[in-house]
This record gives sequence, C-alpha cells and structure tokens, in this order.
Amino acid sequence: MKIITKISESRDEINVFRCVGKRIGFVPTMGYLHEGHLSLVKKCREENDIVVVSIFVNPTQFGAGEDFECYPKDLKKDAALLQGAGVDFLFTPSVEEMYPEGFSTAISVSGISDGLCGSSRPGHFDGVALVVTKLLNIIMPHKAYFGMKDYQQLQVIKRFVADLNMNTKIIGMPIIRETDGLALSSRNIYLNADERRSALCLSRSFALVCEALEGGETEVSEVKTIVENFIKDHPHTRIDYVQFVDPETLKPVKDLTKDFLLALAVYVGKARLIDNNIFKVM
Ligand code: AMP
Repeated sequence: MKIITKISESRDEINVFRCVGKRIGFVPTMGYLHEGHLSLVKKCREENDIVVVSIFVNPTQFGAGEDFECYPKDLKKDAALLQGAGVDFLFTPSVEEMYPEGFSTAISVSGISDGLCGSSRPGHFDGVALVVTKLLNIIMPHKAYFGMKDYQQLQVIKRFVADLNMNTKIIGMPIIRETDGLALSSRNIYLNADERRSALCLSRSFALVCEALEGGETEVSEVKTIVENFIKDHPHTRIDYVQFVDPETLKPVKDLTKDFLLALAVYVGKARLIDNNIFKVM
C-alpha cells in the first residue's frame, strides 16, 4: 500500500491505472477505523481493481464547539488495518493541501440536507458535500462506498453526484454493529463503561418500534413517545432528535402505515451518537 499526501501525486499514481482500463474504487473516511469502515473497504476490494481509501478529518463539516480538535486519530494503526485489507493507496492530505489559502467555494444541497442532522448541525452537510466533491474530483473513482449509518449523508451525496453529473457510482452499505447492537462509530471511544451501557438505548429502541407496529400502532406521536421515554430512562442521555421520516425524501411521515426510517441522534455523555433503521411496513 502506498501512502500519498499530495493531490498531484494521487492523480499521477491513480491515472496510470485508469488509463489501462482498471476499475478504481474509493472509500472516504475520517480515520480511527473500525469494522464498519473495513466492511466498505472489503466490498470495494471485491468490486474494483484498485482500492483507494482516504483519511481526512474535514474541518468544514464540524461546527463551532464540536469535536474537530479532539477527533480520535491513530494513523499508524489505520494504515496497518488498510494494508491488511488489501488497499492499494491511502490518501491522507493535510488541511492546507485540501483548503489552500484563497479557497472560496461552497456547495450547498437544499431539501435533503435540511432536517435531521442538517437542523442540529447547521452547515454540516455543506462541509460534507464540499469535501466529498473535492475527493471525488481528485480520485475520480468508478465507484465510491458509504455507510448507511450516516443515512442522511448518503442521500445528500447521491443527490449532488446526480445533480452535478459526477461520473461515480455511489454505493450504500449496511450498518455494522457490535454483537450487542451498538452501531460501530469512531466516537464510541468517548464513552466510559456506564455510558457504553446507556448507548444501547439507540439500537434497542428499534425493537420497541417493532413491538408497537406488531400491536397495530400507526400513530407517529405514540411511538415517538415510547422511544423518547425509553431513551430518557437511560442515564447520561440527552435526545437531539427522534424522527420518523420517509426513507427517500427524509421528510417526516404522517403515520406509520408505509415504510419509514427511524433516525436517532442522542448525546450519551459528551458523544453525539446517531443510528437509524428502516422499517418495512408494506
Ligand atoms: P467516518 O470516518 O465516520 O466519516 O465514516 C466513513 C464512512 O464509514 C462513512 O461512509 C460512514 O457512513 C461509514 N461508517 C461509519 N460507521 C459505520 C458502521 N458502523 N457501519 C457501516 N459503515 C459505517
């Protein structure tokens, strides 16, 4: 595996393969890798000739007071994991390389970015759209892989890739969980043992929703109250949002008679955790 930090070098190296007809696959990450990231890398390895992974903690997608400064890092361990997973290129640019002096461009995706994390983290998806656009322009992959753990992010990326006629197929991949149900996240490292136990309330609330649906409940407000009360019963938790939305538009659903996505954002201690599940009703 070759580690590259410069945009020009990544272009030169990857072009060699593109020119001879090799299929390029790409997995963007912010590092501190876990099995969730590695599931994307594995799929990418299976479906492409050349696998490129990026590690870049993107400042433009963090708001004031968020964890940009202390976002966990372990480049040595990440590189070893990626090497073991058969990655060809690891692209780890600096902030200055990605955003040189004079950088002035913004990308904004309206509609799909507005609710959920878009409301709680103003500007977050502008930052995501900007960095993913730049990375796709730099790597120019045939396919790029993203997790459904960040469901809204995936929908935002699909939207601007279509709108801007970008020539990359966006692949969404299932959420990888610990055996007890907690969705893997780099931010789980912020949890102490007590908070780690409480964090299970996110994934466990999906079973409560199933129970309510099986009992014939179709009122959003009823099921929302069940989920909110369940989460509040867990120490160290503070709800950011509990939202029942259409899986395509991410607009709130009126009732639970059609397929819907339950999207959760909950602070557990200082960690802001997100999780989601699609419920098939029809
Ligand atoms: P991040 O490093 O958090 O920006 O994540 C990089 C990519 O890994 C994103 O596409 C995430 O959605 C994906 N990802 C993160 N956690 C998981 C998980 N538990 N299961 C599947 N994909 C994940």
